[in-house]
Amino acid sequence: MADKIQELSEEIKQFTAANQEELEAYRIKFISRKSVLGDLFSEMKNVAPENRKAYGQAVNEVKQLAEEKFRALIEELENGSESSASKAPIDLSLPPVVNLGTVHPLTIIHNRIVEIFQKIGFNVADGPEIEDDFHNFTALNFPENHPAREMQDTFFIESNPDIALRTHTSSIQIRVMENQKPPFRTLAPGRVFRNEAISARAHCFFHQVEGFFVDKNVGLVDLKQTLYYFAKELFGQDTQVRFRPSYFPFTEPSAEMDISCNICKGKGCNVCKYTGWVEILGSGMIDPNVLENCGIDSEEYTGFAFGMGIERIAMLKFQVNDLRLYSENDVRFLNQFKNIS
Ligand SMILES: [Zn+2]
Repeated sequence: MADKIQELSEEIKQFTAANQEELEAYRIKFISRKSVLGDLFSEMKNVAPENRKAYGQAVNEVKQLAEEKFRALIEELENGSESSASKAPIDLSLPPVVNLGTVHPLTIIHNRIVEIFQKIGFNVADGPEIEDDFHNFTALNFPENHPAREMQDTFFIESNPDIALRTHTSSIQIRVMENQKPPFRTLAPGRVFRNEAISARAHCFFHQVEGFFVDKNVGLVDLKQTLYYFAKELFGQDTQVRFRPSYFPFTEPSAEMDISCNICKGKGCNVCKYTGWVEILGSGMIDPNVLENCGIDSEEYTGFAFGMGIERIAMLKFQVNDLRLYSENDVRFLNQFKNIS
């Protein structure tokens, strides 16, 4: 039996395939389910029990050899070598090259944001990407025919204008608040969709993280303190923060938060357009109407909410200047994030 195995492994080593037919002949003989190696395996039962382990090992080795040779033959044919016999023999003892993948930069940032908020007691919620009008707009205080709805270009389902791809993760906030009782300390990350032309600065889908905190006596000071903590954890302890008044239908008052530019450290560069500040998120006190729309007594409870784009944060952290790079699956781009987690 040992001779037979030896003989086969010699045959495998010597085999050359000049064309696809010969490669196929090799495959049938050594790789397919009905290969000679399959016969060797089925003869296992005739081997004396004390020799079975050694036998199995020998058969496995020759099987591995056959597979490595098969890959080498394919590669040779693909590389267009006219006569593989004329080339130097392939060193089958070399270990196979394994290319490990990398964690996607958006996943790196997503995980980091979740980790920072989990430290201060936030849990994570999820919701559907296909939403109805109520959860995406009405409950969030976007009145019907109100121009605020025009702020976001929405993908509607043609046959049913009540159904759309969610334009923000705020819809998850509604789903959590209508189904559970306060207090809430929740983070809601997810993919969102806008009907926009794709360019370096805009895409038809991107990722957001929504966060909200609802309890008795929650005030603006809690919002500022929480986001202050977040910015320092993510961008470094020397990060400066400022709030600018803004408008969102679902918060009142509303504010956008800027951080001191982490690239030029506030001195001015093209990322911060020479202002020394970059915007990273929108926030505000949850409008009492939104709480009431979810059946929460706005006299008893108050809360704050914030939302940010993961692509934007990743852009600032990794200095990526084209949104399209995130979804092109170019390994040259992705490989740059190999040692970051
Ligand atoms: Zn700058």
